[in-house]
Amino acid sequence: MADYVNEIKRRRTFAIISHPDAGKTTLTEKLLLYGGAILQAGSVKGKKANKHAVSDWMEIEKQRGISVTSSVLQFEYNDFCINILDTPGHQDFSEDTYRTLMAADSAVMVIDASKGVEAQTKKLFKVCLLRKIPIFTFINKMDRAAMDPFKLLEHIEAELGISTYAMNWPIGSGKEFKGVYERDHKRIIAFHGGDHGMKAAEVTEGSLEDDTFRSILGDHFFEQLREDSELLDIASTEFDEAAIAKGELTPVFFGSALTNFGVEPFLSHFLNMTTSPLPREASVGEIDPFDEHFSAFVFKIQANMNKAHRDRIAFMRICSGKFEKGMEVLHVQQGKKIRLAQPQQFMAQDREIVEEAYPGDVIGVFDPGIFAIGDTLCDASYKFEFKKIPTFAPEHFARVTQKDTMKRKQFTKGITQIAQEGAIQVFQQIDTGMEEIIVGGVGVLQFDVLEQRLQSEYNVEIKLEILPYQCVRWIDDQTLDPHTLNLTSDTKRLKDLKGKNLLLFMNNWGIKWATEQNKSLSLSEFGNME
Ligand code: GDP
Repeated sequence: MADYVNEIKRRRTFAIISHPDAGKTTLTEKLLLYGGAILQAGSVKGKKANKHAVSDWMEIEKQRGISVTSSVLQFEYNDFCINILDTPGHQDFSEDTYRTLMAADSAVMVIDASKGVEAQTKKLFKVCLLRKIPIFTFINKMDRAAMDPFKLLEHIEAELGISTYAMNWPIGSGKEFKGVYERDHKRIIAFHGGDHGMKAAEVTEGSLEDDTFRSILGDHFFEQLREDSELLDIASTEFDEAAIAKGELTPVFFGSALTNFGVEPFLSHFLNMTTSPLPREASVGEIDPFDEHFSAFVFKIQANMNKAHRDRIAFMRICSGKFEKGMEVLHVQQGKKIRLAQPQQFMAQDREIVEEAYPGDVIGVFDPGIFAIGDTLCDASYKFEFKKIPTFAPEHFARVTQKDTMKRKQFTKGITQIAQEGAIQVFQQIDTGMEEIIVGGVGVLQFDVLEQRLQSEYNVEIKLEILPYQCVRWIDDQTLDPHTLNLTSDTKRLKDLKGKNLLLFMNNWGIKWATEQNKSLSLSEFGNME
């Protein structure tokens, strides 16, 4: 029992959110380096050419032979057991990216110091807000020309509407990025070497009162730091643990993942400040991770991970109880008991069977087509359902028609199954049913995947016609008849596969019109929120 409690307490399950190129992969690699999971950082970057085909981590995995599923990367650091959840970015950006955040207990937001908050970071941040999870900010690339740190904090607050608290402060930037100042211990960490990021950075540490740092940092930077630190103490928001826990205040760290400067101070603070696995809302109230009844929910389904096997893997996050290989659990939505016989993790190219796992961990199980996103698995003696995972508003839309209308059945089956996995969302015009199908995706790549999968798995050829719509919103009051609404002529009335009514707009202006003209109408960016 003591072991069980300790295993949970030492777990940290988080996702890294960022805009492409801000440095998520580099930072992840450096966390592995500091965790001792790899001995030397390096060439992961060199092999970026066909990056969109495989996740960045699959690359790391192949090169280093570390245990990585395509969904989670697990490693030890001091006494912590860390699970970093992969949030696919770049061309892979899709609903999976959002859903992964449903399985995280906190998020690390990586921001490029010269670019500030970018589009994809904003989108992912919104999902973190929805979950009210703690968000830790790592301002990266301080070894290059950077915005003024005070300006950066203001910018984050203005763009994201979150308060900031600088945990440390950069000393210089660009070629003159000399170190960071840790505000809690009033300690200077001056960087040397770091072997261009191949090895852990070498540092000299000491107090702000210690005048030897005047010569280490140089007069100018030393004086500047003293000034900045006084200003920070006067001007900054108060440190407030409760606000951090609710995601209202983000602790901010400065550093450079490439040179390793500031990576270790970030990691050690972050791991101590962030949370071990959190309770999760369910139909019977909150489920406590320390509850010994097993429970988990499915947050991602991945098809055809292995071409030779043509299978699907359902990834689930364990929320309570110890998982043991072969255990029998209740699949609540299907009302059936199933045996979790072959839970998988991936070691290099081969699948590795997981013997045991704890709350906070993610396991992948073979899915013969029975799982859907959000499904609950639990101990049959204590049955409940976890709160549903929201459906995220897609931003790309296409009309799908079949080339060969004789294959109606396969088409319907294929498109429904692919939608069930959560790869795309399927909408129908309210009065026409399956006759006209509109698909929506968070990323455009999803349409290519749909076309190719319908062809190869269901032998159905389709024609895709990209539509100029940009936003979809669910109607909050589902008893409201969409025909009675006063809408612009280019707004479409649709329903999703669950029969929920929603509206498809050309742009934000259409949304504004709709809510202004129809006082009883309220709209939501997330579906499935009951
Ligand atoms: P991702 O797309 O967010 O995963 O970003 P990557 O980690 O792939 O980094 C994008 C590019 O920025 C790569 O060329 C990295 O070498 C570079 N990069 C990452 N971190 C830093 C940093 O701290 N300083 C500098 N100068 N470059 C960095």
